[in-house]
Amino acid sequence: MNQKNSDILFERAQKVIPGGVNSPVRAFGSVGGTPLFMEKGEGAYLYDADGNRYLDFVSSWGPLILGHRHPVVLEAVKKAADRGTSFGTPTKAEVELAEKVVQMVPSVEKVRMVNSGTEATMTAVRLARGFTGRDKILKFEGCYHGHSDSFLMKAGSGVATLGIPGSPGVPKSLAADTLLAPYNDWKAVEKWAQTHGDELAAIIVEPVAGNMGTILPDADFLSRLRAITRKTKSLLIFDEVITGFRLSEGGAQKVYGIEPDLTCFGKIIGGGLPVGAVGGRCEVMDALAPAGPVYQAGTLSGNPLAMAAGWATLDFLQKNDLWFQLNEKANGFTDRLKRWIQTKELPLCINQIGSMFTIFFTKGPVGNFSEASETDTQKYSQFFNALLEKGVYFPPSAYETVFLSTAMTQADLEFAFEAITQSLEEIY
Ligand code: PLP
Repeated sequence: MNQKNSDILFERAQKVIPGGVNSPVRAFGSVGGTPLFMEKGEGAYLYDADGNRYLDFVSSWGPLILGHRHPVVLEAVKKAADRGTSFGTPTKAEVELAEKVVQMVPSVEKVRMVNSGTEATMTAVRLARGFTGRDKILKFEGCYHGHSDSFLMKAGSGVATLGIPGSPGVPKSLAADTLLAPYNDWKAVEKWAQTHGDELAAIIVEPVAGNMGTILPDADFLSRLRAITRKTKSLLIFDEVITGFRLSEGGAQKVYGIEPDLTCFGKIIGGGLPVGAVGGRCEVMDALAPAGPVYQAGTLSGNPLAMAAGWATLDFLQKNDLWFQLNEKANGFTDRLKRWIQTKELPLCINQIGSMFTIFFTKGPVGNFSEASETDTQKYSQFFNALLEKGVYFPPSAYETVFLSTAMTQADLEFAFEAITQSLEEIY
Protein backbone atom coordinates (compact mmCIF):
# COMPACT_ATOMS: atom_id res chain seq x y z
CA MET A 1 0.00 0.00 0.00
CA ASN A 2 1.39 3.37 -0.95
CA GLN A 3 1.33 5.74 2.00
CA LYS A 4 4.13 8.09 1.04
CA ASN A 5 2.13 11.25 1.66
CA SER A 6 0.94 10.04 5.08
CA ASP A 7 4.58 9.26 5.98
CA ILE A 8 5.67 12.78 4.97
CA LEU A 9 2.79 14.41 6.86
CA PHE A 10 3.49 12.34 9.97
CA GLU A 11 7.13 13.44 9.93
CA ARG A 12 6.06 17.06 9.74
CA ALA A 13 3.42 16.52 12.42
CA GLN A 14 5.85 14.99 14.89
CA LYS A 15 7.95 18.15 14.74
CA VAL A 16 5.11 20.42 15.81
CA ILE A 17 2.49 18.24 17.56
CA PRO A 18 3.29 15.98 20.56
CA GLY A 19 3.46 12.45 19.14
CA GLY A 20 2.27 13.87 15.82
CA VAL A 21 -1.42 13.54 16.72
CA ASN A 22 -4.09 15.44 18.61
CA SER A 23 -5.53 12.38 20.37
CA PRO A 24 -3.29 9.46 21.42
CA VAL A 25 -4.92 6.39 19.83
CA ARG A 26 -4.73 8.03 16.41
CA ALA A 27 -0.95 7.51 16.48
CA PHE A 28 -1.22 3.77 15.62
CA GLY A 29 1.12 3.17 18.59
CA SER A 30 -0.34 -0.23 19.44
CA VAL A 31 -0.81 -1.50 15.89
CA GLY A 32 2.44 -0.23 14.36
CA GLY A 33 3.07 1.77 11.22
CA THR A 34 2.28 5.33 10.28
CA PRO A 35 -1.11 6.78 11.05
CA LEU A 36 -3.02 7.46 7.86
CA PHE A 37 -3.78 11.09 7.16
CA MET A 38 -7.28 11.28 5.80
CA GLU A 39 -8.22 13.75 3.16
CA LYS A 40 -11.86 13.10 2.46
CA GLY A 41 -14.86 11.09 3.56
CA GLU A 42 -17.81 10.09 1.41
CA GLY A 43 -20.67 7.96 2.71
CA ALA A 44 -19.21 4.80 4.22
CA TYR A 45 -15.70 5.46 2.89
CA LEU A 46 -12.55 7.34 3.87
CA TYR A 47 -9.85 8.49 1.42
CA ASP A 48 -6.29 9.07 2.61
CA ALA A 49 -3.64 11.53 1.42
CA ASP A 50 -2.31 8.91 -1.02
CA GLY A 51 -5.70 8.28 -2.60
CA ASN A 52 -6.32 4.91 -0.88
CA ARG A 53 -9.94 4.14 -0.05
CA TYR A 54 -11.16 2.45 3.14
CA LEU A 55 -14.52 1.21 4.32
CA ASP A 56 -14.79 3.14 7.58
CA PHE A 57 -15.73 1.19 10.72
CA VAL A 58 -14.47 3.94 13.05
CA SER A 59 -16.98 6.61 12.02
CA SER A 60 -14.85 9.34 13.61
CA TRP A 61 -15.02 7.24 16.84
CA GLY A 62 -18.80 7.17 16.81
CA PRO A 63 -20.33 10.50 15.76
CA LEU A 64 -20.86 9.71 12.07
CA ILE A 65 -23.80 7.32 12.37
CA LEU A 66 -25.05 8.63 9.01
CA GLY A 67 -21.64 8.28 7.36
CA HIS A 68 -19.46 11.03 5.90
CA ARG A 69 -20.82 14.15 4.25
CA HIS A 70 -24.44 13.23 4.68
CA PRO A 71 -26.29 15.74 2.44
CA VAL A 72 -28.87 16.69 5.08
CA VAL A 73 -26.15 17.44 7.63
CA LEU A 74 -23.97 19.29 5.11
CA GLU A 75 -26.88 21.45 4.03
CA ALA A 76 -27.74 22.35 7.63
CA VAL A 77 -24.14 23.33 8.39
CA LYS A 78 -23.83 25.40 5.21
CA LYS A 79 -27.06 27.23 5.95
CA ALA A 80 -25.92 27.96 9.51
CA ALA A 81 -22.48 29.14 8.33
CA ASP A 82 -24.13 31.56 5.92
CA ARG A 83 -25.71 33.28 8.93
CA GLY A 84 -22.51 33.43 11.01
CA THR A 85 -20.21 31.00 12.79
CA SER A 86 -20.51 32.16 16.40
CA PHE A 87 -22.38 34.87 18.28
CA GLY A 88 -21.69 34.32 21.97
CA THR A 89 -25.40 34.88 22.58
CA PRO A 90 -28.33 32.51 22.86
CA THR A 91 -29.66 31.27 19.50
CA LYS A 92 -32.77 29.46 18.34
CA ALA A 93 -30.63 26.50 17.21
CA GLU A 94 -29.66 25.72 20.84
CA VAL A 95 -33.27 25.71 21.92
CA GLU A 96 -34.23 23.44 19.04
CA LEU A 97 -31.51 20.88 19.77
CA ALA A 98 -32.30 20.94 23.50
CA GLU A 99 -36.01 20.43 22.73
CA LYS A 100 -35.18 17.48 20.51
CA VAL A 101 -33.01 15.82 23.18
CA VAL A 102 -35.72 16.31 25.81
CA GLN A 103 -38.28 14.83 23.45
CA MET A 104 -36.12 11.81 22.60
CA VAL A 105 -34.72 10.89 26.01
CA PRO A 106 -37.43 10.54 28.68
CA SER A 107 -35.14 10.96 31.72
CA VAL A 108 -33.96 14.34 30.40
CA GLU A 109 -36.04 17.42 31.21
CA LYS A 110 -33.32 20.02 30.75
CA VAL A 111 -30.02 19.94 28.93
CA ARG A 112 -26.82 22.03 28.97
CA MET A 113 -24.74 22.07 25.78
CA VAL A 114 -20.96 21.85 26.02
CA ASN A 115 -18.22 21.18 23.46
CA SER A 116 -17.14 17.58 24.04
CA GLY A 117 -17.93 14.37 25.89
CA THR A 118 -15.14 15.22 28.34
CA GLU A 119 -16.84 18.48 29.24
CA ALA A 120 -20.16 16.68 29.62
CA THR A 121 -18.87 14.14 32.15
CA MET A 122 -16.81 16.77 33.97
CA THR A 123 -19.89 18.95 34.28
CA ALA A 124 -22.08 16.04 35.38
CA VAL A 125 -19.72 15.14 38.18
CA ARG A 126 -19.37 18.71 39.41
CA LEU A 127 -23.13 19.02 39.30
CA ALA A 128 -23.56 15.78 41.26
CA ARG A 129 -21.03 16.97 43.83
CA GLY A 130 -22.68 20.37 44.12
CA PHE A 131 -26.19 18.92 44.30
CA THR A 132 -25.42 16.28 46.94
CA GLY A 133 -22.74 18.20 48.86
CA ARG A 134 -20.52 15.09 48.67
CA ASP A 135 -17.10 14.53 47.06
CA LYS A 136 -16.65 10.90 46.13
CA ILE A 137 -17.61 9.29 42.85
CA LEU A 138 -17.51 5.68 41.78
CA LYS A 139 -16.46 4.59 38.32
CA PHE A 140 -15.84 1.23 36.70
CA GLU A 141 -12.52 -0.21 35.58
CA GLY A 142 -12.14 0.05 31.81
CA CYS A 143 -14.83 2.70 31.41
CA TYR A 144 -13.61 5.91 29.84
CA HIS A 145 -15.33 9.17 30.61
CA GLY A 146 -13.03 11.61 28.85
CA HIS A 147 -9.73 12.97 30.05
CA SER A 148 -10.59 15.11 33.06
CA ASP A 149 -8.72 14.41 36.31
CA SER A 150 -11.37 12.50 38.25
CA PHE A 151 -11.73 9.80 35.59
CA LEU A 152 -8.20 8.79 34.64
CA MET A 153 -7.98 5.83 36.96
CA LYS A 154 -8.02 2.42 35.27
CA ALA A 155 -9.68 4.11 32.35
CA GLY A 156 -10.42 2.49 29.02
CA SER A 157 -9.84 3.80 25.49
CA GLY A 158 -6.38 5.33 24.92
CA VAL A 159 -5.45 4.94 28.59
CA ALA A 160 -5.96 1.18 28.26
CA THR A 161 -4.24 1.10 24.87
CA LEU A 162 -1.14 2.75 26.33
CA GLY A 163 -1.32 0.34 29.29
CA ILE A 164 -1.05 3.05 31.95
CA PRO A 165 -2.91 2.72 35.27
CA GLY A 166 -3.53 6.43 35.56
CA SER A 167 -1.90 9.66 34.48
CA PRO A 168 0.84 11.82 35.93
CA GLY A 169 -0.60 15.23 36.64
CA VAL A 170 -3.71 13.97 38.43
CA PRO A 171 -3.46 15.10 42.08
CA LYS A 172 -3.43 12.19 44.56
CA SER A 173 -6.02 13.98 46.65
CA LEU A 174 -8.42 14.01 43.72
CA ALA A 175 -7.72 10.40 42.77
CA ALA A 176 -8.62 9.43 46.34
CA ASP A 177 -12.16 10.62 45.71
CA THR A 178 -12.65 8.20 42.81
CA LEU A 179 -13.71 4.73 43.92
CA LEU A 180 -13.28 1.87 41.47
CA ALA A 181 -15.19 -1.33 40.88
CA PRO A 182 -15.06 -3.99 38.16
CA TYR A 183 -17.72 -3.56 35.46
CA ASN A 184 -20.74 -5.82 36.00
CA ASP A 185 -19.79 -6.40 39.66
CA TRP A 186 -22.66 -4.81 41.56
CA LYS A 187 -21.61 -6.62 44.74
CA ALA A 188 -18.34 -4.67 44.75
CA VAL A 189 -20.41 -1.49 44.40
CA GLU A 190 -22.61 -2.52 47.29
CA LYS A 191 -19.51 -3.00 49.44
CA TRP A 192 -18.32 0.53 48.64
CA ALA A 193 -21.84 1.79 49.39
CA GLN A 194 -21.73 0.18 52.83
CA THR A 195 -18.45 1.87 53.76
CA HIS A 196 -18.69 5.16 51.80
CA GLY A 197 -22.37 5.50 50.86
CA ASP A 198 -22.90 8.77 52.72
CA GLU A 199 -19.88 10.36 50.97
CA LEU A 200 -20.88 9.21 47.50
CA ALA A 201 -22.02 11.97 45.13
CA ALA A 202 -22.52 9.75 42.11
CA ILE A 203 -21.92 6.50 40.34
CA ILE A 204 -20.94 7.07 36.72
CA VAL A 205 -21.18 4.24 34.23
CA GLU A 206 -21.24 3.56 30.51
CA PRO A 207 -24.54 1.65 30.40
CA VAL A 208 -22.98 -0.37 27.61
CA ALA A 209 -19.22 -0.12 27.86
CA GLY A 210 -17.52 0.91 24.64
CA ASN A 211 -14.02 1.83 25.72
CA MET A 212 -12.58 -1.56 26.67
CA GLY A 213 -14.16 -2.90 23.53
CA THR A 214 -17.91 -3.41 23.62
CA ILE A 215 -19.10 -4.96 26.89
CA LEU A 216 -22.77 -5.43 27.66
CA PRO A 217 -24.22 -4.99 31.13
CA ASP A 218 -25.36 -8.23 32.82
CA ALA A 219 -29.11 -8.60 33.23
CA ASP A 220 -29.45 -6.89 36.60
CA PHE A 221 -26.31 -4.73 36.69
CA LEU A 222 -27.89 -1.39 35.81
CA SER A 223 -30.99 -1.94 37.96
CA ARG A 224 -28.76 -2.79 40.92
CA LEU A 225 -26.83 0.46 40.41
CA ARG A 226 -30.15 2.31 40.29
CA ALA A 227 -31.24 0.67 43.55
CA ILE A 228 -27.90 1.30 45.31
CA THR A 229 -27.84 4.99 44.33
CA ARG A 230 -31.43 5.41 45.56
CA LYS A 231 -30.41 3.89 48.89
CA THR A 232 -27.30 6.04 49.31
CA LYS A 233 -29.07 9.14 47.93
CA SER A 234 -26.34 9.49 45.33
CA LEU A 235 -26.93 10.32 41.66
CA LEU A 236 -26.72 7.74 38.91
CA ILE A 237 -24.95 9.17 35.87
CA PHE A 238 -25.16 7.33 32.56
CA ASP A 239 -22.33 8.23 30.25
CA GLU A 240 -24.10 7.80 26.92
CA VAL A 241 -21.47 9.64 24.90
CA ILE A 242 -21.22 6.53 22.69
CA THR A 243 -24.60 4.86 23.19
CA GLY A 244 -26.76 8.02 23.11
CA PHE A 245 -28.75 8.21 19.86
CA ARG A 246 -26.88 5.11 18.64
CA LEU A 247 -28.57 2.15 20.32
CA SER A 248 -32.03 3.68 20.06
CA GLU A 249 -33.75 7.04 19.95
CA GLY A 250 -33.48 7.13 23.75
CA GLY A 251 -30.04 5.51 23.95
CA ALA A 252 -29.07 2.59 26.19
CA GLN A 253 -31.37 3.78 28.98
CA LYS A 254 -34.36 3.14 26.74
CA VAL A 255 -33.06 -0.28 25.68
CA TYR A 256 -32.51 -1.37 29.30
CA GLY A 257 -35.44 0.54 30.83
CA ILE A 258 -33.42 2.30 33.54
CA GLU A 259 -33.70 6.06 34.16
CA PRO A 260 -30.52 7.71 35.41
CA ASP A 261 -30.49 11.07 37.22
CA LEU A 262 -28.06 12.57 34.72
CA THR A 263 -27.03 11.59 31.21
CA CYS A 264 -23.90 12.65 29.36
CA PHE A 265 -23.99 12.95 25.59
CA GLY A 266 -21.35 13.56 22.95
CA LYS A 267 -20.43 12.22 19.51
CA ILE A 268 -23.74 11.74 17.60
CA ILE A 269 -25.38 14.75 19.29
CA GLY A 270 -22.93 16.94 17.35
CA GLY A 271 -23.37 15.19 13.98
CA GLY A 272 -19.58 15.31 13.43
CA LEU A 273 -18.98 18.73 14.97
CA PRO A 274 -17.72 19.29 18.54
CA VAL A 275 -20.70 18.99 20.89
CA GLY A 276 -21.33 17.41 24.25
CA ALA A 277 -24.27 17.79 26.61
CA VAL A 278 -25.44 16.89 30.05
CA GLY A 279 -29.12 16.41 30.76
CA GLY A 280 -31.38 15.31 33.58
CA ARG A 281 -34.39 16.17 35.61
CA CYS A 282 -35.11 19.84 36.36
CA GLU A 283 -34.43 19.61 40.07
CA VAL A 284 -30.82 18.58 39.45
CA MET A 285 -30.17 20.57 36.26
CA ASP A 286 -31.37 23.81 37.82
CA ALA A 287 -28.44 23.65 40.23
CA LEU A 288 -26.28 24.74 37.25
CA ALA A 289 -25.37 28.44 36.88
CA PRO A 290 -27.03 30.80 36.26
CA ALA A 291 -30.16 29.03 37.59
CA GLY A 292 -28.16 27.64 40.51
CA PRO A 293 -24.75 27.87 42.16
CA VAL A 294 -22.76 25.13 40.35
CA TYR A 295 -20.55 26.93 37.86
CA GLN A 296 -20.15 25.84 34.26
CA ALA A 297 -19.60 27.91 31.11
CA GLY A 298 -18.22 27.87 27.56
CA THR A 299 -17.24 30.53 24.99
CA LEU A 300 -18.34 28.38 22.05
CA SER A 301 -20.98 26.29 23.84
CA GLY A 302 -24.13 25.97 21.74
CA ASN A 303 -22.17 26.91 18.63
CA PRO A 304 -24.65 27.43 15.77
CA LEU A 305 -22.83 25.21 13.25
CA ALA A 306 -22.53 22.40 15.75
CA MET A 307 -26.16 22.74 16.85
CA ALA A 308 -27.29 22.63 13.23
CA ALA A 309 -25.27 19.47 12.48
CA GLY A 310 -26.54 17.78 15.66
CA TRP A 311 -30.17 18.69 15.06
CA ALA A 312 -30.07 17.60 11.42
CA THR A 313 -28.52 14.24 12.39
CA LEU A 314 -31.01 13.51 15.17
CA ASP A 315 -33.95 14.67 13.09
CA PHE A 316 -32.95 12.54 10.11
CA LEU A 317 -32.48 9.46 12.32
CA GLN A 318 -35.80 10.06 14.01
CA LYS A 319 -37.88 10.87 10.92
CA ASN A 320 -36.64 7.77 9.12
CA ASP A 321 -36.55 5.61 12.26
CA LEU A 322 -33.12 4.41 11.19
CA TRP A 323 -32.19 2.56 14.37
CA PHE A 324 -34.20 -0.57 13.57
CA GLN A 325 -32.70 -0.95 10.10
CA LEU A 326 -29.17 -0.23 11.28
CA ASN A 327 -29.40 -2.61 14.22
CA GLU A 328 -30.85 -5.37 12.03
CA LYS A 329 -28.03 -4.87 9.54
CA ALA A 330 -25.47 -5.12 12.36
CA ASN A 331 -27.17 -8.20 13.86
CA GLY A 332 -27.04 -9.99 10.51
CA PHE A 333 -23.41 -9.04 9.95
CA THR A 334 -22.11 -10.07 13.37
CA ASP A 335 -24.24 -13.25 13.50
CA ARG A 336 -22.67 -14.36 10.25
CA LEU A 337 -19.19 -13.57 11.54
CA LYS A 338 -19.87 -15.43 14.79
CA ARG A 339 -21.00 -18.52 12.85
CA TRP A 340 -17.91 -18.38 10.65
CA ILE A 341 -15.63 -18.07 13.71
CA GLN A 342 -17.38 -21.02 15.33
CA THR A 343 -16.96 -23.18 12.25
CA LYS A 344 -13.27 -22.34 12.10
CA GLU A 345 -12.92 -22.85 15.88
CA LEU A 346 -10.92 -19.64 16.27
CA PRO A 347 -10.20 -18.28 19.78
CA LEU A 348 -12.28 -15.16 19.25
CA CYS A 349 -15.29 -13.65 20.96
CA ILE A 350 -17.64 -11.05 19.50
CA ASN A 351 -19.60 -8.74 21.79
CA GLN A 352 -22.29 -6.78 19.98
CA ILE A 353 -25.32 -4.67 20.60
CA GLY A 354 -26.99 -2.68 17.85
CA SER A 355 -24.46 -0.99 15.60
CA MET A 356 -21.52 -1.37 17.98
CA PHE A 357 -19.33 -4.45 18.32
CA THR A 358 -15.86 -5.71 19.15
CA ILE A 359 -13.97 -8.79 18.08
CA PHE A 360 -11.93 -9.77 21.15
CA PHE A 361 -8.89 -11.91 20.42
CA THR A 362 -9.62 -14.25 23.30
CA LYS A 363 -12.09 -17.12 23.72
CA GLY A 364 -14.17 -15.05 26.13
CA PRO A 365 -16.65 -14.45 27.49
CA VAL A 366 -15.66 -10.83 28.04
CA GLY A 367 -17.68 -9.06 30.72
CA ASN A 368 -15.19 -6.76 32.41
CA PHE A 369 -11.83 -5.03 31.99
CA SER A 370 -9.68 -7.89 33.26
CA GLU A 371 -11.34 -10.29 30.81
CA ALA A 372 -10.95 -7.73 28.01
CA SER A 373 -7.27 -7.43 28.90
CA GLU A 374 -6.80 -11.09 27.97
CA THR A 375 -7.28 -10.14 24.33
CA ASP A 376 -4.17 -10.92 22.27
CA THR A 377 -3.13 -7.41 21.26
CA GLN A 378 -0.39 -8.68 18.93
CA LYS A 379 -2.89 -10.73 16.98
CA TYR A 380 -5.21 -7.71 16.88
CA SER A 381 -2.39 -5.63 15.44
CA GLN A 382 -1.79 -8.22 12.68
CA PHE A 383 -5.51 -8.35 12.01
CA PHE A 384 -5.80 -4.56 11.87
CA ASN A 385 -2.96 -4.28 9.36
CA ALA A 386 -4.23 -7.14 7.21
CA LEU A 387 -7.62 -5.44 7.07
CA LEU A 388 -6.10 -2.09 6.22
CA GLU A 389 -4.29 -3.65 3.26
CA LYS A 390 -7.68 -4.80 2.00
CA GLY A 391 -9.25 -1.38 2.35
CA VAL A 392 -11.12 -1.78 5.63
CA TYR A 393 -10.47 0.68 8.43
CA PHE A 394 -10.94 -0.76 11.95
CA PRO A 395 -9.97 1.10 15.15
CA PRO A 396 -6.19 1.18 15.66
CA SER A 397 -6.53 -0.37 19.12
CA ALA A 398 -7.82 -3.68 20.47
CA TYR A 399 -9.81 -1.88 23.17
CA GLU A 400 -12.20 0.08 21.03
CA THR A 401 -15.64 -0.39 19.55
CA VAL A 402 -16.33 -0.89 15.88
CA PHE A 403 -19.21 1.22 14.55
CA LEU A 404 -21.53 0.57 11.65
CA SER A 405 -23.11 3.53 9.89
CA THR A 406 -26.36 3.83 7.98
CA ALA A 407 -24.24 4.64 4.89
CA MET A 408 -23.03 1.02 4.69
CA THR A 409 -24.84 -1.01 2.07
CA GLN A 410 -25.22 -4.81 1.98
CA ALA A 411 -22.52 -4.80 -0.73
CA ASP A 412 -20.18 -2.88 1.61
CA LEU A 413 -20.83 -5.40 4.37
CA GLU A 414 -20.23 -8.29 1.99
CA PHE A 415 -16.88 -6.71 1.10
CA ALA A 416 -16.12 -6.28 4.83
CA PHE A 417 -17.06 -9.90 5.60
CA GLU A 418 -14.69 -11.19 2.93
CA ALA A 419 -11.89 -8.89 4.11
CA ILE A 420 -12.34 -9.84 7.78
CA THR A 421 -12.51 -13.59 7.21
CA GLN A 422 -9.55 -13.52 4.78
CA SER A 423 -7.51 -11.47 7.26
CA LEU A 424 -8.29 -13.92 10.05
CA GLU A 425 -7.29 -16.83 7.83
CA GLU A 426 -3.98 -15.09 7.08
CA ILE A 427 -3.07 -14.59 10.72
CA TYR A 428 -4.20 -17.98 12.17
N1 PLP B 1 -17.39 9.25 27.50
C1 PLP B 1 -17.33 8.20 26.67
C2 PLP B 1 -18.16 7.00 26.93
C3 PLP B 1 -16.50 8.25 25.54
O1 PLP B 1 -16.43 7.20 24.72
C4 PLP B 1 -15.74 9.42 25.31
C5 PLP B 1 -14.83 9.51 24.15
O2 PLP B 1 -14.56 8.58 23.46
C6 PLP B 1 -15.84 10.48 26.20
C7 PLP B 1 -16.68 10.37 27.29
C8 PLP B 1 -15.09 11.75 25.96
O3 PLP B 1 -15.60 12.39 24.86
P1 PLP B 1 -14.69 13.45 24.03
O4 PLP B 1 -13.63 12.64 23.37
O5 PLP B 1 -15.66 14.08 23.10
O6 PLP B 1 -14.14 14.41 25.02
